[in-house]
Amino acid sequence: MLLPYADIVLPLAQPAYTFAVPEGLEVSPGDAVAVPFGPRKIYTGIVWRVHAEPPAAGRVKTILRRLYDAPLLPAPQMRLWEWVADYYLCTLGEVMRAALPSLMKPSGDTEEAFSEEEFRPRTECYVSLPAELHDEDRFHEACERLERRAPKQYEALLEVATAGDETRISTGEVARRLLRADYGTLQALCRKGLLIARQHERTVERGGAPVFRLPELTPHQQQALAALRGCFAEGKGAALLHGITGSGKTEIYIHLIAETLARGGDVLLLVPEIALTAQLIERMERIFGSRVTSYHSKLSGLRRSETYLRLNRSPGGEFVVGARSALFLPLRHLELLIVDEEHDTSYKQTDPAPRYNARDCAVVMARIAGGRALLGSATPSLESWLNARSGKYGYALLTERYGEARPPVVCLSDTLRAARRGERRAHFNKLLLDRIDETLRRGGQVMLFQNRRGFSPYVECTECGWTARCPNCNVTLTYHKNGRKLVCHYCGHTEDIPAKCPACRVADVVPMGFGTEKVEEEIAKLFPEARVARLDRDTVTSERAFSAIVADFAARRTDILVGTQMITKGFDFEGVSLVGILNADNLTNSPDFRASERAFQLMMQVAGRAGRRDDGGEVVIQTSDPANPLLRQVVAGDYEAMARTQLAERQAFFYPPYARLMSLTLRHRDPALLREGIAYLAGRLRTHFGRRVLGPMTPPVDRIRGEYLMGLLLKIESGASSSRARGVLRAELKFFSANPAFRAISVCVDVDPQ
Ligand code: ADP
Ligand code: ZN
Ligand code: ZN
Repeated sequence: MLLPYADIVLPLAQPAYTFAVPEGLEVSPGDAVAVPFGPRKIYTGIVWRVHAEPPAAGRVKTILRRLYDAPLLPAPQMRLWEWVADYYLCTLGEVMRAALPSLMKPSGDTEEAFSEEEFRPRTECYVSLPAELHDEDRFHEACERLERRAPKQYEALLEVATAGDETRISTGEVARRLLRADYGTLQALCRKGLLIARQHERTVERGGAPVFRLPELTPHQQQALAALRGCFAEGKGAALLHGITGSGKTEIYIHLIAETLARGGDVLLLVPEIALTAQLIERMERIFGSRVTSYHSKLSGLRRSETYLRLNRSPGGEFVVGARSALFLPLRHLELLIVDEEHDTSYKQTDPAPRYNARDCAVVMARIAGGRALLGSATPSLESWLNARSGKYGYALLTERYGEARPPVVCLSDTLRAARRGERRAHFNKLLLDRIDETLRRGGQVMLFQNRRGFSPYVECTECGWTARCPNCNVTLTYHKNGRKLVCHYCGHTEDIPAKCPACRVADVVPMGFGTEKVEEEIAKLFPEARVARLDRDTVTSERAFSAIVADFAARRTDILVGTQMITKGFDFEGVSLVGILNADNLTNSPDFRASERAFQLMMQVAGRAGRRDDGGEVVIQTSDPANPLLRQVVAGDYEAMARTQLAERQAFFYPPYARLMSLTLRHRDPALLREGIAYLAGRLRTHFGRRVLGPMTPPVDRIRGEYLMGLLLKIESGASSSRARGVLRAELKFFSANPAFRAISVCVDVDPQ
């Protein structure tokens, strides 16, 4: 029996709507349909549920038609959307906006406008031999006749008949664009019935069983691979591959990928910030050739839509390398999900909703699809490390660089002492300047790393680098310009800016540190002969600019490269033998409970850029706090010590991974109404969550486009039922938004904020 109603998800921040299914139309979950919405608008929607329950009130509208010839969403992807909507407290419509390429969800004011927007895959002309010419005698007969009278047609016919397997799709057809023969010649052959031409959707078909040439693994790498296979075989859904930079993690991925593809399974390899990982894609293409499909936001909407549709119909054996949104591709045989650099914060989408973390979603998707998730990193997130250590995830460790390459020698240089001895020029200690001098003399290259203040300013002593910390939260206080106050953006603790630095009692405390531009200027003055370049958001105005700076450095047309985080990722420069970190203090002092973890990850990553060559490299870290245990751990490259120290602190101050954070941001033009609203909401939430509610507090940026912002933070114990907490929060937010006094206040929820 055909069911008369369907719940349809529309790309809006709204719940699913019920529509009537017109007579004669058969729809099932996962289908895309065109539906009328509002007074006169047509949207693409996804059928979520088909049922016989008429909606309680209002006139029910009818589905216009079905789109595409197959469901757009396989069942596992539907389950993933549901999980994302539930976990990150958003609507399925918001997930739809993030998950489907834009061309696949057209909308329009009229049916014509809608159709115009509708995505149609590009078609192409394919030619093939008619059945009778498969008979060899007949074929030769035809050839002989043509050879004398129409030599061009003869050649074209031969070309089609002898086209190699790689240009021929499974139906025996050859794409016209791959033939040398011109259009007129092929047309003439068609008229004579010697060729068949068909116009159909462009297909990228792949050859038969893949034969990949795989690198031979070292004994250590083999052990790690065996350990991973072992824990997957044991039934663990996820594993962590923890290996220092250059230890061969990627080689291990390659082995697992090849195995999976060979048995027809699909592989998804997620990478942070695709623009910086072109090297990885190239490396994969060298091994897996045309099997590699890349998917990221830099591709055109058309390419993304074509890829989506092609994968949706694929029989399996697909290998997608992509940024976080690739998670939502309709891979129907997903067996292996790899998250490279799993600690990277760009896996988290911060705006707009869904504010999801693709790493965590990959683990969930592996569970849904019955596949396996592999998280790889040189400096894993503490969340993943704890999961591995507690036995929830499998674990494999690689502690040696491949080949002769030795790890760099890391040393600390005391800024305060240098200043006292008069051994400091501009922002450089003598030690670093000497090392730069020597490196340049030897013809080596130098990288200088300076972290820009980042998103929230803080205050720093100009002399000793002291910064103010929150007594309750163990994070740096954030500087608020209006009012010249220091504020904790976790608990709301507020204090005045001290007149003199409480640590050295000498200097003033001033907002912010110094940026890369300053460093570039100073270093150019100190080393007038050296060729200096800078890589940061100001110099990288386009991808071209980025590539140009990188290419110059790789070709040694630049001696010193000054940069922000940008210089840390995805580079493999032979010539770099010295890396300088100009101010480690502003890394450890950011107003974030993850600051120490991040600082460690960043410094290890920066250090990893040095000495990729055999003769090792050197790293100089400038700091006013050389006794800082975190810096000692960086010098020793001791991840485990860092993890233990930081986890103990997280436990003591009750932070992730021991607590789950949910942050609420409310915004409105009228600050008085906003304060009233948030106080009311905080009160309601406290009746359920008690002291787990922190705030209200003013975020570091408290006014955006004329709207005021205020926040609340919920800290839920990891052991507690987080689904219950989410349920309560969802209900309270609904109640809040239904209140006529506060309806105009917009609320945004961020689960597991970064
Ligand atoms: P990671 O991903 O851990 O940073 P890579 O896989 O990139 O490490 O390996 C670092 C370098 O060493 C690469 O150039 C890689 O080709 C090489 N390498 C690692 N393992 C092997 C191996 N078993 N055989 C040949 N080359 C290897
Ligand atoms: Zn605090
Ligand atoms: Zn001071």
